[in-house]
Amino acid sequence: MPRESSAAKARRVKEILAGLRKSYPEAHCELDHVNPLELLIATILSAQCTDKRVNVVTKELFKKYHSAADYANASLAEVEQAIKSTGFFRNKAKNIQACCRKLVERHGGQVPRTMQDLTHLDGVGRKTANVVLGNAFGINVGVVVDTHVARLSHRLGLTRQQSPEKIEQELMALVPQKQWTLFSHWLIWHGRRRCFARKPDCANCEIQKLCPRIGVLKQLNK
Ligand code: SF4
Repeated sequence: MPRESSAAKARRVKEILAGLRKSYPEAHCELDHVNPLELLIATILSAQCTDKRVNVVTKELFKKYHSAADYANASLAEVEQAIKSTGFFRNKAKNIQACCRKLVERHGGQVPRTMQDLTHLDGVGRKTANVVLGNAFGINVGVVVDTHVARLSHRLGLTRQQSPEKIEQELMALVPQKQWTLFSHWLIWHGRRRCFARKPDCANCEIQKLCPRIGVLKQLNK
């Protein structure tokens, strides 16, 4: 890709945002939840697991456990059994219990609304905290960088960084803050519906004209 000036990149990002907004007006978090606690639990479960599978598991889980105290007081074996099919279930169950104990002890059973408080909870990193803040509270503190966001950011030539933390910083500098949560939904939706990991559907891509398709040709010729 020829070198792009900052002004040209800013213009291109603006057009990408407009294109994605038009393509996915209904984009939203695809983890089913009705309150911040449910979203927090679902996001912890979504590590190395599809949203679809998490939604199947939480449909039953949320009928059984309604509050942070419910998870904190449950038997660990029972929680493990309930979330088993999401993978890494022992670790996830341990984290959910420890996290919910802290919610009860330090936050009156409520999910806190700051990055600092959230990332002090067990099993909650910056990505999970961003999901909860953006989607449960409408607070844009950062950009969620999952596998789709990282892949599309590279292909679109928005970053060359590799670590999620550095990718996030570059995206935050390019995208207006009020769009951070939506932006990650748009990229995730585009990654799931068009810009697939193995064979991206570039021929039908809504933002093809704005995309340098970095790494895509090499990948398709493999
Ligand atoms: S043109 Fe291809 S690589 Fe670029 S965003 Fe669209 S599907 Fe992905």
